[in-house]
Amino acid sequence: MAEFDLIELIRNRAATRNDVVLGIGDDAALLHVPAGHELVVTADTLNAGVHFPGDTAPADVGWKALAANLSDLASMGARPAWCTLSLSLPQADAGWLDGFLDGFLGLAEAHGIALAGGDTTRGPLSVAVTAMGLVETGAALRRDRARVGDDVWVTGTLGDAAAALVLGGHVPPPSGAAPPAVAAAIAAQLADRLRRPTPRVEAGRALLGLAHACVDVSDGLLADLGHVCRRSGVGAEVAIDALPASAALRAAFGEQRHALQAAGGDDYELCFTAPPMLREAVALALEQAGVDGTRIGRIVAGAGVRAVDAQGAPWQSTHAGYEHFG
Ligand code: ADP
Ligand code: MG
Repeated sequence: MAEFDLIELIRNRAATRNDVVLGIGDDAALLHVPAGHELVVTADTLNAGVHFPGDTAPADVGWKALAANLSDLASMGARPAWCTLSLSLPQADAGWLDGFLDGFLGLAEAHGIALAGGDTTRGPLSVAVTAMGLVETGAALRRDRARVGDDVWVTGTLGDAAAALVLGGHVPPPSGAAPPAVAAAIAAQLADRLRRPTPRVEAGRALLGLAHACVDVSDGLLADLGHVCRRSGVGAEVAIDALPASAALRAAFGEQRHALQAAGGDDYELCFTAPPMLREAVALALEQAGVDGTRIGRIVAGAGVRAVDAQGAPWQSTHAGYEHFG
């Protein structure tokens, strides 16, 4: 199959939107930004062997490539609108591409984001997505707006994806010992969080006007909250015991879960700050967005993230977030 045929396959399956003036097929796309809005742009690349094992099902690669980008839009409070897809493929494999599009376009459709262009080349398997969203002018959630006295919140639960990486033998367990023996049904639940993360797009929208600062948790909670602190010129205190955990994670890792939750990464939850007087409004907004919210700490004067255990003593992480070039 030639490059042209691959692009035709993509074009035939991709849905469009009426604000796509010109989509796949010209030298560039023409997209209409409505008055009163800002364009929110983000890019994320997944490389085989680095961001996913080479034998990952193509539909899972497609889902995750878009989910990571939607999560970045979510953390800005943006409504997803358009994306581009740059594919590097070792060979022109229509079967692989079809499977990939099942995952990618399935998630795209669920969020009403249109694939408006891209690039298709031969090379090592790599998927680079640029996602574009819209936010009301001046309203975007940012990393640099946290204020001393804010509560620190997180959506959903943390640590499942990191647990799946440990159980899959991809990273060593936090204890340094062998991974725990875990029932197949529980291992499958954890693996699903790694394979098919849920970008918190509705939650991000619901937090506009409520949250002061927001970041999505992709590199690990403490690392990502650290970015908020640095950009905002503040510090944070986080109660490790308060970190929300799924029943599956508790069953699989018990007290060992904390390191996975604090530093594991790949969660794609939102961590945000909001003033205490808005606690009820935040809880209601998240409930309407269909996701749980948990208060895990507060913003303090100073710098850096201080994690404390149930006794209030400093909690020591074994690793502080996944660094690609660390
Ligand atoms: P050019 O050589 O002018 O860059 P291409 O032949 O690379 O054009 O692409 C032709 C059209 O197909 C363009 O509109 C481009 O955006 C689109 N396209 C190419 N690859 C992809 C892809 N992987 N996903 C979506 N659109 C693509
Ligand atoms: Mg091109």
